[in-house]
Amino acid sequence: QGGASHLHYRPDMGGSSNDHAHLGAELRAALGTDQLFLLYQPLVSLDDASMVGVEALIRWKHPERGLVSPADFIPLAERTGLILPLGRWVLARACRQAVTWTERYGDAAPQVINVNVSARELREATFPDQVAEILAETGLPPHRLVLEITETTVLTLGASVTNLHALREMGIRVALDDFGTGQSTLTLLHDCPVDELKLDRSFTQSDAGDRRDTMAVAVIQLARALGLDTVAEGVETAQQADRLRALGYEVVQGFYFARPLSVEQVEGELAAAHTP
Ligand code: C2E
Ligand code: CA
Ligand code: CA
Ligand code: CA
Repeated sequence: QGGASHLHYRPDMGGSSNDHAHLGAELRAALGTDQLFLLYQPLVSLDDASMVGVEALIRWKHPERGLVSPADFIPLAERTGLILPLGRWVLARACRQAVTWTERYGDAAPQVINVNVSARELREATFPDQVAEILAETGLPPHRLVLEITETTVLTLGASVTNLHALREMGIRVALDDFGTGQSTLTLLHDCPVDELKLDRSFTQSDAGDRRDTMAVAVIQLARALGLDTVAEGVETAQQADRLRALGYEVVQGFYFARPLSVEQVEGELAAAHTP
């Protein structure tokens, strides 16, 4: 076990369990250091282009490997259980940030903060209590927090529906992320109490009239019928934004409007919008 073995890491070696164990240990050590930080991607109103909310997205700046994608280390954190302290850290950090922005920028601050929650977290019986504690500590009103869960999260975890009820009872909102990509979307909506649907970007990025566009049409109709809010993710072009507006989508997210931003970048936007 040479101390420098990680220097030989290449992405295509990612399958080896030794390497995963190593990365897992490094992730554990990174927790609580500034190697882990959050970016915030604006959720934008199609009405007036205002920032109605932000989604917190975690980043890991590894000292040797550089930026490691959450798509790589979140699954690892889920397998090792590290997602529990990591998820708590993300939630507390994001809630505190939202309160700070409101103190500084008033009404110009993002109204809601969206936080991704993994299956492993939602399954914990104590999860609703942990969230309540974080809200109490930070002073964030529950209606300003949106927890994003995926269809797979809910499907794999019957018991977590109880937690969803508890969270919504507290006034917290729940959004179904990557909506439309799952196997049994309609069954899920029937069983799972949520407030919002986030249209997966594979449907957002379609051309009018094609098969995937039909999903964008169907989802907004479904949301209206069920009284749910919608967000369309992954908007990359003006045409996609126009199409979504025509379909009745009101809030969107995507590189066309804004990439995930650092705290400083968000504050630049807010300072411009804030008229004290
Ligand atoms: P997600 O929740 O679906 O987040 C949206 C992803 O799409 C983000 O990738 C974002 O950077 C990217 N994206 C946004 N706009 C566009 C666009 O216009 N085009 C394209 N092609 N992509 C766009 P990111 O930040 O790499 O995150 C990947 C996934 O990692 C997230 O997918 C989420 O599932 C997970 N993740 C990120 N942060 C956290 C976290 O704090 N906790 C948990 N449990 N999962 C997280
Ligand atoms: Ca998300
Ligand atoms: Ca998504
Ligand atoms: Ca996703």
